[in-house]
Amino acid sequence: MIVPGNLFILSAPSGAGKSSLIKALLKQDKQTSARAMQVSVSHTTRDARPGENNGEHYHFVSVTEFKKQINNHAFYEYAEVFGNYYGTSAAAIDAQLAQGIDVFLDIDWQGAQQVRMKKPNVTTIFISPPSKEELESRLRSRGQDSDEVIASRMAQSQAECSHYHEFDYIIVNDNFDQALLDLTTVVNNQRLKCRQQTIAQQELFSTLLNNEATKTA
Ligand code: GDP
Ligand code: ADP
Ligand code: 5GP
Repeated sequence: MIVPGNLFILSAPSGAGKSSLIKALLKQDKQTSARAMQVSVSHTTRDARPGENNGEHYHFVSVTEFKKQINNHAFYEYAEVFGNYYGTSAAAIDAQLAQGIDVFLDIDWQGAQQVRMKKPNVTTIFISPPSKEELESRLRSRGQDSDEVIASRMAQSQAECSHYHEFDYIIVNDNFDQALLDLTTVVNNQRLKCRQQTIAQQELFSTLLNNEATKTA
């Protein structure tokens, strides 16, 4: 029997380090875990940044196409963030979870609220920057956004941070390695829950609970 995958949400003000943490977690997990993990690829109407590939970082679509998908109920959630639409495709996530894959959503607080209502078992994590100054410096050092975009993302960061208390876990991304360790702990905690282990360790428990005497050689 396949153990259904866990669903995780990571939210944070832009530049706090969500993408870097998820990427590092996936890389590390590939080397150490038998369990698969994937990051959900959202749909967005924003332009691709240099180095971003369609279907890998996002599915880049037009506003018309996005609205068509809203009408078709194709999204678990969608939101307007920084003047663009972002949405999470329902079919893709359900297929991954059914295959036993743990799925990570990198979405904003509005999306997190919508998914929480549809998937009550979701584990939500808020990634906080260590300070406002460091957040701005990371947005600049990423070197992907104009001054205007950076100013608008900094202005929005307060709105994102004001929802921190709605999340199950809070990780402060100051030292990257420590934040990655914290994220790994949260993921492992979820995987070791009784509900999960009851399915994963079915064979073990059926042997342990069997009344037949243990055969010795
Ligand atoms: P990449 O664009 O595929 O290299 O990956 P990322 O978007 O995750 O990271 C962008 C750059 O930032 C890479 O050069 C990373 O090595 C670097 N980087 C990621 N995390 C940290 C960190 O915690 N501290 C520092 N100083 N650099 C980092
Ligand atoms: P987000 O996905 O939340 O917008 P990114 O993962 O793109 O953020 O991170 C923004 C920038 O900050 C990137 O250039 C990344 O390399 C850097 N960064 C992430 N975590 C840290 C950290 N702990 N210390 C220093 N720089 C970091
Ligand atoms: P960026 O343009 O930097 O990739 O993302 C901007 C913001 O949009 C981030 O806060 C990110 O979490 C959010 N975002 C990305 N994909 C989705 C999505 O599918 N749904 C929602 N609600 N927010 C998203």
